[in-house]
Amino acid sequence: MGTIIQKFGGTSVKNTERILEIAKKIVERKKLGDDIVVVLSAQGGYTDTLLKKAHNISKTPKKRELDVLLSTGEQISIALLAMAIEELGESAISFTATQLGIKTCSNYNCAQILDIENKKIKEALKEGNIVVVAGFQGVDPYGNITTLGRGGSDTTAVALGVALDAQEVEIYTDVDGIYSADPRVVKDAKKIDEINYSEMIEMAGNGAKVLHSRSVELACKYNIKIHLRSSYSWKEGSIVKGEDEMEKEVIRGITHSKNLSKITLRDTPHRLVDVINTLSNKGYNIDIITHDFDLERGATISCILKQELLESAFEVLEDKYPESRKNLIHIPNLGKVSVIGIGVKSKGVAAQVFKVLSENNISIEMVSSSDINISCIIHQKNLEKAVSLLHRELIEEAK
Ligand code: ADP
Ligand code: ASP
Ligand code: MG
Repeated sequence: MGTIIQKFGGTSVKNTERILEIAKKIVERKKLGDDIVVVLSAQGGYTDTLLKKAHNISKTPKKRELDVLLSTGEQISIALLAMAIEELGESAISFTATQLGIKTCSNYNCAQILDIENKKIKEALKEGNIVVVAGFQGVDPYGNITTLGRGGSDTTAVALGVALDAQEVEIYTDVDGIYSADPRVVKDAKKIDEINYSEMIEMAGNGAKVLHSRSVELACKYNIKIHLRSSYSWKEGSIVKGEDEMEKEVIRGITHSKNLSKITLRDTPHRLVDVINTLSNKGYNIDIITHDFDLERGATISCILKQELLESAFEVLEDKYPESRKNLIHIPNLGKVSVIGIGVKSKGVAAQVFKVLSENNISIEMVSSSDINISCIIHQKNLEKAVSLLHRELIEEAK
């Protein structure tokens, strides 16, 4: 008998009814004889509520304190589920990341897991318990509470899979699989039965929040299968695994991400490396970067970053390059639509993407592409329309 890791997201534990429902399923699974480790998120919407509470007090709360606050959501869920399991006559014990030793770096709000001590879990399993672990949180080398970034409980689940030598991690959510586009946006999106790590990393990293992209990176590194499925229907879901379908040149999906903005520094004598370092040294995560160089006018550098960072990133550049203020411009309210899959390198796909957007009067602010991804930055108001149009053209009507 092996060890099964089951992760339940926010909607799966959003109220007492749902907690009792999943407790029953977990207990049924335990009766088959495997050891069960459950990873939980905060109750649906709770992390957002906590964030609002913080921002009602401070516009720029200290990241350390934010993590102390945000980690409490998961602590509530694990205690409630452990109680529900006990009510059904099975033994359960809950652990926070600090109690367990889920060690991370000190990068608050976006910490990386460095190591997980498995001794305590193994002992608790040996004693016959269902072990319930708080997702999303960690502890740094100095004993501070950290969090892994929004959606990070998936990564806790896979990291526990690695620490406990599990073959597969089951991630239960509010959709019954990974789809060729967000099923809440494209009603004809198709369920994907199997997807390889590279394509899923690309989908998750470009807005398919159904999985935290770092969970897929970790699963890929340690060759652990992820089974993404619904906590409502318990049907077979989608499997994320190795590269065996790599040769199949298909377009896997159309993803989108919202709330982006663009900053451009025009005709500047400054070097790309200095401008980008100015932002990244201050901790800004930059997405797409473009650089045009002209001997007479100098460089024009543009980059995409999250809308919430726009104001402060703009100020950083104004302070650093006061003489270039008039050449600094920004465009808010952008989004990114991405076409993902090995098939994007086939002849003509990029042209097809641009044609669909242009025929529908959707102007493109920026483009980036790789072997498995063509992404276009467009105005957010056109985003969902672009996703639907590209899905129809490249997936529904593909020969
Ligand atoms: P959980 O709280 O269980 O972690 P999330 O809200 O993080 O759940 O992820 C599930 C959501 O991801 C779905 O409700 C769906 O709207 C969204 N989603 C975005 N892209 C996709 C996709 N390609 N396939 C399936 N779901 C997707
Ligand atoms: N509760 C956290 C969030 O809402 C982590 C997670 O759900 O995975 O982002
Ligand atoms: Mg999630």
